[in-house]
Amino acid sequence: MKVGAIVPAAGAGRRMKADRPKQFLVLDGVPILVSTLRKLDAATDIDDIVVAAPRETLDEVRELISGSAFEKPVTVIGGGERRQDSVEMALRQLDFETEIVVVHDGVRPFVTLDEISRVISEARNCGAAIVAIPITDTVKEVQQNLVKSTLRREHLVLAQTPQAFRADLLRKAFDAARKDGYYATDEASLVERIGLDVSVIRGSETNIKITRPTDLSLARFLLEEEREPVE
Ligand code: C5P
Repeated sequence: MKVGAIVPAAGAGRRMKADRPKQFLVLDGVPILVSTLRKLDAATDIDDIVVAAPRETLDEVRELISGSAFEKPVTVIGGGERRQDSVEMALRQLDFETEIVVVHDGVRPFVTLDEISRVISEARNCGAAIVAIPITDTVKEVQQNLVKSTLRREHLVLAQTPQAFRADLLRKAFDAARKDGYYATDEASLVERIGLDVSVIRGSETNIKITRPTDLSLARFLLEEEREPVE
């Protein structure tokens, strides 16, 4: 069963307050995007990878990738205005024989090979699966500084990536969203809204999305740990 990976990495990274989008920040000598791609390249279930990068960085990203000696074919395309546009454009680039699509944020380099393989296998069985973790804080819905409601924590998880889908279901979900002008912040939302079940598998707290400046300190610490795992 052919498995294609999509890596949305076309964001401007404004929350990082750095002069470069966060996916290009270098940690321990390696741009974050390259560290993420190394994981997908090492995942035995994945056959090829499509990266959506900011249009003005295409040459730079292609050079980064050709210098990284990945084993799998990696195609780089220009992304869209929103994350969903970038993923949709990448979906069109995947080989038409692709049966499972895995979407993974370009700024989550600490995903494990085990998480990738479990989410793919769950999608093979159920059609759609995400990696998520339980929440420890209490979540409140707020409007203009006033609490409207408190959500029951035991029913809540934080959705991460990778998220994996049968390609036909994901295409159907994207077609429906485009037709309705609907935008979401992850792919599973699009699949949910066409009435399909999405399975949840347990992820890990270390699979962080490097978004804000404080994430960088944690990322440096996690890198150390990856190099010298604590027994
Ligand atoms: O904005 P958010 O934190 O959800 O971004 C998650 C991922 O989506 C990042 O890797 C970012 O580069 C990517 N993205 C994209 N195209 C956009 C906006 C974000 O590929 N237009």
